[in-house]
Amino acid sequence: MGADTRVDVAIQGIRLAGPTDAPVARRAGAGPSDDGHLLLDGVGAAVPLNPRSPYTVRGGRLLLDGADTGMGVEAVARPRFYDLTTADGVPYEQIARLHSSHVLATTVVQTCVRYAESERCRFCAIEESLRQGSTVAVKQPAQLAEVALAAHELDGVTQVVMTTGTSNGRDRGATHLARCVRAVREVLPDLPIQVQCEPPGDLATIQELYDAGARSIGIHVESLDDEVRRRWMPGKGSVPMSEYHAAWAEAVRVFGWNQVSTYLLVGLGEDPDELVRGAVELVEMGVYPFVVPFRPLAGTLATDVDGATAPDPAAVYRVTTQVAAALRAHSMLGSDQAAGCAACGACSALGSCSGEEVAS
Ligand code: SF4
Repeated sequence: MGADTRVDVAIQGIRLAGPTDAPVARRAGAGPSDDGHLLLDGVGAAVPLNPRSPYTVRGGRLLLDGADTGMGVEAVARPRFYDLTTADGVPYEQIARLHSSHVLATTVVQTCVRYAESERCRFCAIEESLRQGSTVAVKQPAQLAEVALAAHELDGVTQVVMTTGTSNGRDRGATHLARCVRAVREVLPDLPIQVQCEPPGDLATIQELYDAGARSIGIHVESLDDEVRRRWMPGKGSVPMSEYHAAWAEAVRVFGWNQVSTYLLVGLGEDPDELVRGAVELVEMGVYPFVVPFRPLAGTLATDVDGATAPDPAAVYRVTTQVAAALRAHSMLGSDQAAGCAACGACSALGSCSGEEVAS
């Protein structure tokens, strides 16, 4: 797959004829959303659904302004576990969702202590899916175990990603995450799980997450630039970078080299050279910098209040290829992570820029 086309599609998205073209899609929620999950040349991609995109699909081919790009497109089929409900009547798809073609993803607590307008990350829509009634606020460990078992048996999911909104407690939500991990591991002892959380106030929590059975961890900073952090993430940006560094270092000690990752958003107004320099430092300490273009989502302050727009594809391509080169130089492959976003890769073009992509 052409890396520049993959970057461009990640930013401009795809204009689909109808919902059946991407039966696995996501509106709002944690992380990048408003996307459809597709296979581009057989490789999983979470692509923004954009009615104004110049990219369309016809006969299983990706077209740019009507011309064949040479790239094949397949929809990820609606998983069978979406048709099930728990004994107490909660649809499984409100508890966990299919991401790409093989990842089960859940937000174990769908609220965030930082969701007041003055505190909220301006790109985040974590509570929007709750407001729309498409998810439940707190996923119980037993519910997650039930859904994971079905998703594994019926749809062949091979890994689980568990993220959480930040809680008021000193652990910032990690204790409930650990309970959920333990419950899933009890029914599926070999299914790899990644957890995602803020740096916990008590670093011992990182060991607890590992002991519960998580095998990869994402501690997502989104930007390494303090000025950008204050502007875009007034609440989360108040957590000092020193806490992130301490948490990453402890996570590498506990989980191992390249089992730790962080999201870095491209297009928040950061200096691209600084971003790449910071990403290289992360690589050197064993942390995978998952570089993802900023996505202006409906229901976020960035879109609805600030009128923020997607970044320039050429700038994203430059940053992504430079970070991919550093990853290659250190033999750091996303696919070597047990589970999680780096292992999945659908939200980033890093895989195509590093030549790492593996067909799903
Ligand atoms: S990269 Fe992460 S957020 Fe994106 S589809 Fe994969 S698991 Fe989900």
